[in-house]
Amino acid sequence: MPAIRIWLKNPLAVFTANDLDARGGLVVENGVIVEMLAAGQSPSLPCDQTYDAREHVLLPGLINTHHHFYQTLTRAWAPVVNQPLFPWLKTLYPVWARLTPEKLALASKVALTELLLSGCTTAADHHYLFPDGLENAIDIQVQSVRELGMRAMLTRGSMSLGEADGGLPPQQTVQQGQVILDDSQRLIDTYHERGDGAYIQIALAPCSPFSVTTEIMSESAVLAEKLDVRLHTHLAETLDEEDFCLQRFGLRTVDYLDSVGWLGPRTWLAHGIHFNEQEIARLGAAGTGICHCPSSNMRLASGICPTMDLMAAGSPIGLGVDGSASNDASNMMLETRQALYLQRLRYGAQNITPELALGWASKGSAKLLGRSDIGELAVGKQADLAMFKLDELRFSGSHDPLSALLLCGADRADRVMIGGQWRVIDGQVEGLDLNGLIADHRQAAARLING
Ligand SMILES: [Zn+2]
Repeated sequence: MPAIRIWLKNPLAVFTANDLDARGGLVVENGVIVEMLAAGQSPSLPCDQTYDAREHVLLPGLINTHHHFYQTLTRAWAPVVNQPLFPWLKTLYPVWARLTPEKLALASKVALTELLLSGCTTAADHHYLFPDGLENAIDIQVQSVRELGMRAMLTRGSMSLGEADGGLPPQQTVQQGQVILDDSQRLIDTYHERGDGAYIQIALAPCSPFSVTTEIMSESAVLAEKLDVRLHTHLAETLDEEDFCLQRFGLRTVDYLDSVGWLGPRTWLAHGIHFNEQEIARLGAAGTGICHCPSSNMRLASGICPTMDLMAAGSPIGLGVDGSASNDASNMMLETRQALYLQRLRYGAQNITPELALGWASKGSAKLLGRSDIGELAVGKQADLAMFKLDELRFSGSHDPLSALLLCGADRADRVMIGGQWRVIDGQVEGLDLNGLIADHRQAAARLING
């Protein structure tokens, strides 16, 4: 295929991590950014296509680092609307145990579509439900990701500690350790791509201290090291979880993490709220990443992640929308806005800027996934871009375009490019029957709840 050079010309504003002047736009060739142009500058070589971006604010494609796609089927479900984490989980587990391949495919496609329309180009999912008949859950998700042309970090989650053994989930939702490890190995062998430009990656992700055995935590860490893949889990989300760890293991959460060989740069943790000063220092020194999930943390009243302390200690910080039963929207722009505002309550308005929050949603999130080829607009990076117009009512009268995206509540990209391919044009996902998807998904959601 001949190389196609595209010039995205003279955008209204561009978000670059290092404040580079890119008002002339950027040039994409073979799916990679090959030139960043200052104001008034033109490409060094002729381009095959020029796209006039004068009405667009240009961002790197946003990266979501924690989700549970299947939960789009249980959004705003009355019995758990006002519950905190543990009772919320215990009410939902039996419903989730009825998940089927068809329902998971629809749920994944809905979550990915929502993310894509919000400017997200790479999505991590944490899937830990493998009831009978759903052994191929991750294979199903790979298919959904490919249909939309997105990048994904699909984590092979697991639950191995059922109620009978002192865990939280019901027995029918847990699997044997060897089954989990064998499937993890199979998925990595089958799907995990390495190096720049990877579209599908696999990580290992035992669910949480209260739903897996210490053995599966330790064995996952050994396997991840051996196969060079990343590790992910929920940690320090609530004080109930901290109590559980103290009672069962006689350890606080970070001591537990350390005891199973997870305290290192290969690991990224969802939530990371309830840490003391020494624990923050240890996580930072280890380079362990933290995915901040502000909406979920507010909905379940779990607490506020100490992002700035963790960053100062050395931990990379990224963002996640979390599962749709606790957010309940999969929108990366709105999540970035929530992060901006929630963190201001903790650290003050001057210290939490829109640029900082957008940096978490892009470069920071990329770091959690162990990637240096995405999350930034710079020469040599993948051409993953999100472009927003400020022509809706909500932006009328706004001045600074970049701040306006977050402060006025931008929620839908006009255009999204992934690896040099347009995946969203005029606010519509290319090749997708959105109304058909919604109709099928709504029906699946109703069936799941009604058993
Ligand atoms: Zn979660």
